[in-house]
Amino acid sequence: ARRVPAKYGKYGLGQKLEPEWLSPGRSLGSGSFGECYKGVLRTEDGEQIDVVLKRVKSRVQGAEEMHEAEHMINVLATKAAGEAVAPFIGYTLVETPSGRLSKGLWLVWEYEGDKTLAYYLKRRDMERALAEDLGVDEAAAVPTVMKQIFKCLVTLHSAGIVHRDIKPANIVFDERRRRFRLIDLGAAACLRTGTNYKPGETILDPCYCPPEEYVLPTEAPNLADQGTRLRTVMTPLLWKQHSPDCFDTYSAGIVLMQLGLPFLRTTSSLRTFNGALARCNYDLEEWRARSGLPARQTAILDANNGTGWDLAASLLRPRQIVNDDNGGVIFLNTGRAPRLTASAAIKHPFMRAAQFTKPAPAP
Ligand code: ADP
Ligand code: MG
Repeated sequence: ARRVPAKYGKYGLGQKLEPEWLSPGRSLGSGSFGECYKGVLRTEDGEQIDVVLKRVKSRVQGAEEMHEAEHMINVLATKAAGEAVAPFIGYTLVETPSGRLSKGLWLVWEYEGDKTLAYYLKRRDMERALAEDLGVDEAAAVPTVMKQIFKCLVTLHSAGIVHRDIKPANIVFDERRRRFRLIDLGAAACLRTGTNYKPGETILDPCYCPPEEYVLPTEAPNLADQGTRLRTVMTPLLWKQHSPDCFDTYSAGIVLMQLGLPFLRTTSSLRTFNGALARCNYDLEEWRARSGLPARQTAILDANNGTGWDLAASLLRPRQIVNDDNGGVIFLNTGRAPRLTASAAIKHPFMRAAQFTKPAPAP
């Protein structure tokens, strides 16, 4: 009998699917490590589920290994933080290529919708479009999006997972539930199991990557090499000491800047901004004072007494105040307060303007 996921997870997470159950359709564009198609999965009872299929690009060196880690991390994340990520359905191994299904390992997720946050950032009427899709007031659009992102991050972080690739293209709008979710765990590291985590290894998009570049100092022990019992002691200690989750909150801070400042929505201007912020020692207030932005550019961050500026500044500043008695410290010590965690960001005054999204109108 066909073991098809009529209800995902029913047959076990990360289940094996047969290639003939899947029909890939149009390409969703390809990132650096995979190739993605929208497609359809046919279930036992003839139900058709819209899915995303992602495959290894055999030309990219090292991509194969990362894909397998991506499989494992998706199983972990779906189990522990299913709300935060796109539902992972399973995988299929193609041995005889047929049509678009070329030889190799394919991962399969539920298709959430056509729009990522990158789509909205390209629109001139970004706030209006977001407000309409979310079912909130226009003034609530950006705070609502940020609150949803931080909720996802809180869930993921409490499972011990750092995403490491938070950016608009990896934040998808779930049309049915009218909320944003995280996708693309290809670079995510689980510090509880050591999955996809190697000290000193970076896989990053320079536009969204925090200046410290690593989730933990490079001298930290390789968690994957430790026994489970040792890890259950080590991970919470390392977490407390270094706040690896604040890797993602920096990226979220960049996302907030792009949502808040229309001129930062292109890659080239974002690069210029990143360089300028680095020269200001990651002090956004200093950058703001030097930039001389006209008020019409800054309305979103200025609203409610400039709470947007304050939130962005607290996300973009260095991760923490470091005592370097033991040597081997990689993070900047500026004497400023540490970067906010996702759970602290949710409580920030900027979030007071966020609204609950109304359910999607019936089709
Ligand atoms: P890559 O490693 O190539 O960046 P992603 O997992 O980010 O792969 O997927 C690439 C693109 O495919 C995303 O930017 C998004 O547009 C689309 N996509 C991926 N997963 C989903 C999903 N579950 N629902 C809808 N679109 C998705
Ligand atoms: Mg991606």
